[in-house]
Amino acid sequence: MKKFLIIIPIFLGLSLSAQVNFNDYFQDKSLRFDYTIGGNSKETKAYFNKLKQEPFWGGSKKNLIDKFNFGDFRVSVLDSAGEKLLYSRGYSTLYVEWIDTDEAKHTSRSFYESVVVPFPKHRILIRIEMRNKQNVFNTLFETVVNPKSLSIIKDKQEKYRTQKLQYSGDHHQKLDIVILPDGYTKDELKKFHEDCKRFMGYFFNVEPFKTYKNNVNFWAVDAFSEESGTDKPTIDIWENTVLNTHFNTFGYERYLTTQDIETVRNLAAYVPYDQIYILVNTEKYGGGGIYNYYNLCSADNEYSGRVFTHEFGHAFAALADEYQYGYDNADELYDMSVEPWQVNITNLVDFDSKWKNLVDKDTPVPTPDSTKYFKKIGAFEGAGYVKKGIYRPMYDCKMRSNATDKFCPVCYKTVLDMLLFYSE
Ligand SMILES: [Zn+2]
Repeated sequence: MKKFLIIIPIFLGLSLSAQVNFNDYFQDKSLRFDYTIGGNSKETKAYFNKLKQEPFWGGSKKNLIDKFNFGDFRVSVLDSAGEKLLYSRGYSTLYVEWIDTDEAKHTSRSFYESVVVPFPKHRILIRIEMRNKQNVFNTLFETVVNPKSLSIIKDKQEKYRTQKLQYSGDHHQKLDIVILPDGYTKDELKKFHEDCKRFMGYFFNVEPFKTYKNNVNFWAVDAFSEESGTDKPTIDIWENTVLNTHFNTFGYERYLTTQDIETVRNLAAYVPYDQIYILVNTEKYGGGGIYNYYNLCSADNEYSGRVFTHEFGHAFAALADEYQYGYDNADELYDMSVEPWQVNITNLVDFDSKWKNLVDKDTPVPTPDSTKYFKKIGAFEGAGYVKKGIYRPMYDCKMRSNATDKFCPVCYKTVLDMLLFYSE
């Protein structure tokens, strides 16, 4: 009996992580699965909306199954019997941020969501899971999809021109970032192209992107807006823009986002992509980045260059903010009986599973905020929006402030691992 107990977990572990042969199961294009998610602070439900065929598969053909286990959600593709895992990816959404707001305590609300998977050759089971506060994934929605179904929309998109800003090679073996403009009129497209070049300059000035420049492709879609700028609700400015971005998301003035996920996906699909970057034509400080969802950044603020890669840390590598903002105690946001799933914050419940191996034995944990430890890896209190009970790896990091343009070693390693995962 004992042998069984030992053998079974090892066998399960292997079958979960083994990558499948892309050509056996998939075609070289994407299937987009759009759904509506809705609920409140107590319950969440998802409803199927539509399926769409998109022309490119921008992702790796080798690394199909997610090895990182990041994100509040996970999309999985299985064979139609639900037995063999073919593809998976973690992600987060605006909805999951909204359910922590006061509004979610007294009202229910829905959000448009969308995931992209490689286009299947045969019938598949597509499954959406959501992580609970104890970090366990539960199935939210699943359905069988027949790739020959007449209900899969195959509209062609030819309205806008595209730009190949930096091409390092085959998009399956590179990290493909598509830049989408918001609030640039047709007359401002030249400015958009110049802004793209400027931001690529900021991007490739930061490690590991500098060293691994040849692992990255940059694309742009020239989607112009009727009006210039973006919505600024606090001063009653409302502009008609192609991606409907706005400041003041959930009442936070600097939080620049869009809920128009359908248009974001429609525009991104003009080119092969892994990450979506929305550049907003405004001088006002702001941005946002949500894991495998999108990045946003204002184009013309003096800090925009640093914000650009900070937000990318969120959307590309699921890094947490390493600053405190709005919450005194950790239990207002986190279940303190388990580690937060983000790799660069800890509540010290299971520090071994985080970066404890990088801490010198003469550095105390928790680590005092003293100049003596400014360059040391430790566990500094105040992170993940919380003042007490959540700790970060270094005194400063790109995920904490604009004072530095460097990722701390924990964030750096995660970004690099992700970059290599996309470029095989
Ligand atoms: Zn960091």
